[in-house]
Amino acid sequence: MKFDQLGLISPILKAVEEKGYEEPTKIQKEAIPKILKRSDILGIAQTGTGKTAAFAIPIIQLIHKIDKDTHKRPPLRALILTPTRELAIQIDENIRDYNKHTHLRHTVIFGGVKQGKQVEALKRGVQILVATPGRLLDLMDQGYISLDDIKIFVLDEADRMLDMGFIHSIRKLIKVLPKKKQTLFFSATMPDNIIDLSKDMLDNPQRIEVARKSSTADSIDQYIYYTNRELKVSLLDHILGDIDGEQILLFSKTKHGADRLVRKLKKLKYKAEAIHGNKSQNNRQKTLGLFKEKKIQLLVATDIAARGIDINKLKYVINYDIPNIPETYVHRIGRSGRAGEKGIAISISEPEDNAFVKAIENLNKGVINKVNDHPFPQTDKPMTEKEKKEWNKEKMKRKREFFENRKKNKNKRKPSRR
Ligand code: AMP
Repeated sequence: MKFDQLGLISPILKAVEEKGYEEPTKIQKEAIPKILKRSDILGIAQTGTGKTAAFAIPIIQLIHKIDKDTHKRPPLRALILTPTRELAIQIDENIRDYNKHTHLRHTVIFGGVKQGKQVEALKRGVQILVATPGRLLDLMDQGYISLDDIKIFVLDEADRMLDMGFIHSIRKLIKVLPKKKQTLFFSATMPDNIIDLSKDMLDNPQRIEVARKSSTADSIDQYIYYTNRELKVSLLDHILGDIDGEQILLFSKTKHGADRLVRKLKKLKYKAEAIHGNKSQNNRQKTLGLFKEKKIQLLVATDIAARGIDINKLKYVINYDIPNIPETYVHRIGRSGRAGEKGIAISISEPEDNAFVKAIENLNKGVINKVNDHPFPQTDKPMTEKEKKEWNKEKMKRKREFFENRKKNKNKRKPSRR
């Protein structure tokens, strides 16, 4: 199926073509015609499925139809609420691309930066607003935003919104949004609290599910390495050696853990940077830019900061720390294997993670391959200082042997380092 079979107008088809998309993804095929028919949508899909275009493209078409040549300063017609600043910026960038020949006015607002420029854009008038909850409510309270003319409301990444504690903001918004509107509700997972929220918000919705099981199992190869905490960096170094210079997104449980890991990786001469909530918005955008330009190879992120990262054709995701919520694992590895590309997700597990790994395996129905052939296998009991020193020596020996052995077996290219 091609985009021109979805009932789209020519300026949008032109923009899509210029974006280089040849075929709509599964969610786009299903969602675009339904949204154009004004249905409410319950979309169960993660980032990487093409879901942004699945809602952004029909929104542009619908608003273009309403506002065509009628308004000098058109009112706000569509609100897209999304949990993180990065995701908000990306959605707005996508809208800019798809809207290239329709020229609707749009902008993005998010916290962590001064509000002046955002307020100026709002004062000029926008038809599509992408927002994070805190800044949206703040600017509404200050009287810069009116939701009275909203025709379409998108709640993106609903499960993450609730994880991040935005339920009160969402409830507050629902109260002030016009009753008569189209609602598009997207979530990667559907726990009970999300089902309840969706029931409150949607009117006779069309359900679209881009199956999680098949999307992880089919498009992402998953591996798990078992080791001990004190060996994790060595094991990571060993894994990176095999990956040979590819861009990799690594996940850390905590902000400090992310910084610590970056320091260790830099010592090992990798080009690595961290992205997390303690870094300023400018710093995060700069780091993301460097990663996209391939000036850094390794991006270490916390779950919240990574939420909105959109990097084309990211092949590898590494869980340096195992997440304690299985759905988070699904979110994380969904960062690889985007839009039909094959992805590889690697997890490093220490003994303390066993219960979490079991929960993840249950959710994944056993598609995670265990890698036993590596030089830093897990030992049963915690080590004493003396044992640690001995193990360090042993570890270096094993590592050398492992590499020599493999060199004999196959012609291996050297890892790319700074
Ligand atoms: P999303 O799930 O919206 O985060 O999109 C994931 C990535 O897929 C983004 O980099 C999009 O630019 C890209 N993408 C979206 N739709 C298509 C398509 N039909 N063909 C190729 N790439 C696409």
